[in-house]
Amino acid sequence: MVADGLFMQSNFICGQWGWSRNPRSSEEVDEFRQLLMVCQNVVLELGEDRLCWDLDESGSFNVKSIKWHLANERGVMPEFIFKWNNWIPKKVNLVAWRAELDRLPTRVALAARNINVLSIDCAFCGDHNESVEHIIVSCGLAQAVWHAISVWCRVPAIYTFRVRDLLELHNFSFIPKKAKAFLCYNVGCDLEVVEGSK
Ligand SMILES: [Zn+2]
Repeated sequence: MVADGLFMQSNFICGQWGWSRNPRSSEEVDEFRQLLMVCQNVVLELGEDRLCWDLDESGSFNVKSIKWHLANERGVMPEFIFKWNNWIPKKVNLVAWRAELDRLPTRVALAARNINVLSIDCAFCGDHNESVEHIIVSCGLAQAVWHAISVWCRVPAIYTFRVRDLLELHNFSFIPKKAKAFLCYNVGCDLEVVEGSK
């Protein structure tokens, strides 16, 4: 319990630190003084200790709240916000998210991290380097997959230049409403299939 170590005395927070030795160096004394200043803002309540996230009204941590907080602190909003798709498995969302950030372990990415790969050529076509954009967007095999999906979903042929374009495809007006849900699911799953089949 926090209350076992901190207590109020004359409207000030005091501590029962239980240290093996007192702070000695100037750095330690300075850090201790800063700790006491932080503790003065602590309000002790009755009940069990619990973790509380101040940046969200619910008091629970979530990634969305810290993203908005960081964006506000920097004064710039992110250029692209990845939308989590609840219709597909989490692992598929993760692959799509990592693909958009260029964080998939492609041969180019592995070689850039000094990991020994025999070749950085695409494992499917062998004509280009195996980057995220190539293996998911521009490789002949990937384009065949997107074409098959467009036929399956009965939407115009899918031509994109970036992974991000694929993730935003369902927003375009030429996609019929009924096909949007189907397309979201297939694009998400296919990102994982293309990445996972290397
Ligand atoms: Zn290829």
